[in-house]
Amino acid sequence: MEFIPIKTFDNYIPANLLLSKMLDQDIHCYLKDEFTVTIDPILANAIGGIKLCVADIDFARAKELLTFFEEEQKIACPKCGSKTVEYIVQPKNPANWLFAIVTWCLASYALKGKEVYHCFKCKYEFDSLEQLQEKI
Ligand SMILES: [Zn+2]
Repeated sequence: MEFIPIKTFDNYIPANLLLSKMLDQDIHCYLKDEFTVTIDPILANAIGGIKLCVADIDFARAKELLTFFEEEQKIACPKCGSKTVEYIVQPKNPANWLFAIVTWCLASYALKGKEVYHCFKCKYEFDSLEQLQEKI
């Protein structure tokens, strides 16, 4: 039985979450280089990160499951239903740039942007998932 890498990670937490989901579905798989990357994260780029390797006989089914799991994790926009929503940090308004310059001159970098969920299809923004659940 040959094992084929199906997805790579730079952190062991999402790698183990996906490994558990795959094992629950009786997919023969394991994490390659998990301990190396966890002990020395700088090596992640050099060795290609943590690799979820799947048995060749389960590869097609694992690929379908991977697509399903990734789609399942995406957040739907409450306005248009698109799943092109991402959590982003953006400047609150143009005055922030003036504030940024002033704080930079005063050797302070205490400027923080607004963190929102942004729909790339309809440009709708919302602050929290609780707000999303209220509308459903
Ligand atoms: Zn939308």
